[in-house]
Amino acid sequence: MTRRFKSYSIAEFQAFINTLSIRRKITHLQIHHTWKPRKTDYRGEATIASMWQYHTNTRGWRDIGQHFTVSPDGLIWDGRSLELDPAGISGHNKGGIMFEMIGNFDQGEETLEGKQLDAIIAAVRVLLQKFNLTEKDIVFHREYSPKSCPGTGITKQWFLNEVQSRKIQELSDQSYVNAPQWKKSAIDWLYKERLISSEDWKKQIESSLPLWAEALVLRRIFEKIKLGRTPF
Ligand SMILES: [Zn+2]
Repeated sequence: MTRRFKSYSIAEFQAFINTLSIRRKITHLQIHHTWKPRKTDYRGEATIASMWQYHTNTRGWRDIGQHFTVSPDGLIWDGRSLELDPAGISGHNKGGIMFEMIGNFDQGEETLEGKQLDAIIAAVRVLLQKFNLTEKDIVFHREYSPKSCPGTGITKQWFLNEVQSRKIQELSDQSYVNAPQWKKSAIDWLYKERLISSEDWKKQIESSLPLWAEALVLRRIFEKIKLGRTPF
């Protein structure tokens, strides 16, 4: 007997997450590589099902360990129920959402690149936004364990730079590109402090912040202060 798995494109994943409501409190995102299977072993759903077999039959877990698996073709596969903590990092699973990236990303082995890199970064960004998390809430397995996971070929700084730089790309419409440096750095700061979002940007913040945007930012500052979270 096997279990079926569903795959999402980046756009489908975003739509799915946007409509999702889960009761568990999410505090961090875990990043892992599978090590084995390697990228070259990937055979679509059968590869996810074989991990499920291994986790449930051999290891005796209640389900596959990870919530999502990102495959070399850039698909995001579903997995363990999001209402359950993952089986990812011994002693550090509470509140986690766990990603496995198919591949062996140790130095000299395989490379995280192309569609797979696009998919993991996009998925991470969608979840950070959804659960009001920051880059500080991204956890590599090896930070809590003597393993190399998600691979010695991936540095944390490089990964965080990808998350950050793609955020800037979202802002890269003409009005941002053409804005003087002082406006860009003000916009970047507002974005970093989560006082504006890419959604706001899509609603046309244009080359300067119009009155409605200033009002929105002020309201969010007051809301943050009310909640005891000073934005400064
Ligand atoms: Zn791991």
